[in-house]
Amino acid sequence: MICHDKIELWIYKKVRNSDFPKIFRDELTTLQVNLGYKCNQACSHCHVDAGPNRLEMMDINTIKLIPKFIDLYNVKCLDLTGGAPELHDYFRYLIEEASQRGIRVIDRCNLTILSEPGQEDLGSFLAKYKVIVVASLPCYMEDNVDKQRGKGVFNKSINGLKELNSLGYGKENSNLELNLVYNPIGAALAPPQIALEENYRKILFKEYGIVFSSLYTITNMPINRFATSLKTSGKLDDYNKLLRDSYNKNNLKEVMCRSLISVDWKGEIYDCDFNQQLGLRVKDHNLNLNSLVKLKQNLKGKEITVGNHCYGCTAGAGSSCSGQLT
Ligand code: SF4
Ligand code: SF4
Repeated sequence: MICHDKIELWIYKKVRNSDFPKIFRDELTTLQVNLGYKCNQACSHCHVDAGPNRLEMMDINTIKLIPKFIDLYNVKCLDLTGGAPELHDYFRYLIEEASQRGIRVIDRCNLTILSEPGQEDLGSFLAKYKVIVVASLPCYMEDNVDKQRGKGVFNKSINGLKELNSLGYGKENSNLELNLVYNPIGAALAPPQIALEENYRKILFKEYGIVFSSLYTITNMPINRFATSLKTSGKLDDYNKLLRDSYNKNNLKEVMCRSLISVDWKGEIYDCDFNQQLGLRVKDHNLNLNSLVKLKQNLKGKEITVGNHCYGCTAGAGSSCSGQLT
C-alpha cells in the first residue's frame, strides 16, 4: 500500500527544488480569497483537496479585514473561491461589501451548488449584484465530467447553467458574465482556447440551449490530489516534463501572481492559490492580511515565491484563473 503522506512530501520537495526564473510583483489589482475547503463535491483533479468533510472556514475577524484591504489597496476585483465559497456564512456579506465599492466580484462556482438545499435563491442573489460567475465544466460530454467530478455532476451542472441563463447570465447585453472553465481530463495540456470555446458554444447550445460569455482553459497543476493520482499511476514525472518542455517565456509577464494576492482561510497571504495549497508563503513571512491592513505596504517589485509547479502557468499558451495567457 502506498503512503500518501510520503508521496505528498516527495511532491513538495520536487516543487521546491526549482530553476523557474525569478519573477516580481506588478500593480496589485485582484484579491483572491479562499473562504475555506468545504465543498459539496470532491473532484479528482482538485488542487485544494476540497470536499464535504473539510471543516476549514475563514473566521469573522478575518472576513472583516477584506473590505478594509480592498479600500486600502484600491483593489479592483474580489475573486471568491474555496471549496465552494457559497457555503461560507459570510459569502453574501462580502459580495454586498464589494458591490458597494463598485469593484468586480467573481464567484468561482461549481454549478452543482445551485441545487444544494438552502441555495435556492443563490442564482438570483448573484444576478442582483452582477457577480461574475466562473463555472467549472471540464467537458460538454457527460461521461468525462462525471469521471472527473463525480457521478451525476454533469446533469446538475447543466441544470445550473440553465438556471443562470434564465436569469440573463451569459446572454448578450445582459451585463451578467458567465464564464466556463475547461481543464484537461488527464495529464495533457489544454487545446487552443478559441477553438475549444467554439466547440463548447455549438454543442452546449445545440444539445441544451445553453449560452455563455467565454471559455477559460486552465492547466491542471501537478499538486495535491491531482499530483498524488499522477504519482500513484506513474505519470507524474512525464507530466512535469511535459510542462517544462512546453515552457513559453512570453507567458512570464502575464502570470497572475504579478497582479494578485491570494488569502487563505486563516488570513495568511500567498502569491497565488497554488502556492497557498503548497504552503509556499510569500517571501516576507511576516506579512499576512492583518499586518497588510494595519500598515500599508508597497507590494510592487517584491519577488514572487516560485517552484516547479510554476511551469504549469507558462506551458504552451499559458494558464491562469482567467484562462489562457497568450
Ligand atoms: S475542484 Fe472545485 S468543485 Fe471540485 S472539489 Fe475542488 S473546489 Fe470543489
Ligand atoms: S504557480 Fe503560477 S501564479 Fe503561482 S507563483 Fe507560480 S507562476 Fe505565479
